Amino acid sequence: GGEKDALALHGIHAGYDTAAVLHGVHLTVRAGEILALLGPNGAGKTTTCRVAAGILTPRTGQVLADGRDVTRTGPVPRSRAGTLLAPEGRGIFPALTIDENLALHLPDRTDRDAVYERFPALAARRTVSAGSLSGGEQQLLALAPLLQRPPKVLIADEPSLGLAPRVVDEVFRLLAELRDAGTALLLVEEKAAEILGVADRVAYLSQGRVSWCGPRAEVEADRLTEAYLGIA
Ligand code: ATP
Repeated sequence: GGEKDALALHGIHAGYDTAAVLHGVHLTVRAGEILALLGPNGAGKTTTCRVAAGILTPRTGQVLADGRDVTRTGPVPRSRAGTLLAPEGRGIFPALTIDENLALHLPDRTDRDAVYERFPALAARRTVSAGSLSGGEQQLLALAPLLQRPPKVLIADEPSLGLAPRVVDEVFRLLAELRDAGTALLLVEEKAAEILGVADRVAYLSQGRVSWCGPRAEVEADRLTEAYLGIA
């Protein structure tokens, strides 16, 4: 690991006024790698994402971005430096057209044309309001601009939540393209079986700790059951 980690969490203790949630979380993600973070409801996956993105400051522990200590850096400077939290589902403006939404991120026409070439379904409807798209198409619209300028680190908390299966495949394919472009991805998923298709490594979070972490090839069926049912 060491300096090749695009994102590193060391000994993270974090929580809320009323609850200690993370009890010494350690995880790392390298450039060009997808780390899937699995675990039962309440294990602290979303809290881990918040700490990684700078939305929640840990009580103790260190967050490193490209080896630099960003533990106490807020989400805006952190995203400017290349560590992004994926826009959740509808990180778009429904009253604006598809093209207007894309133009907020991609003012350059040629960048938008590249998106339309990659996603013909968006191209065909570029002048309609984004609010008329399906949930899955909205998710693709929210994520598509990232392909033109892949971030160093992308943290995605259940990007497939509530989407139709066919679109889930498309969302995962898009995330795999980002990985291939060099982005380090921390990806929380409930759909454990599907995410194994794109993950390079898997970390299991259980009661605020990483109970197992390893390459996808070493994941055993038992662990998926643990991840789903929380019987770790
Ligand atoms: P899920 O899959 O249910 O989203 P998770 O693994 O993402 O679970 P978290 O959302 O990180 O888990 O929540 C971990 C614990 O922290 C839960 O017990 C939850 O009730 C608690 N929690 C989450 N957000 C807050 C908050 N804002 N204030 C107080 N407690 C919270």
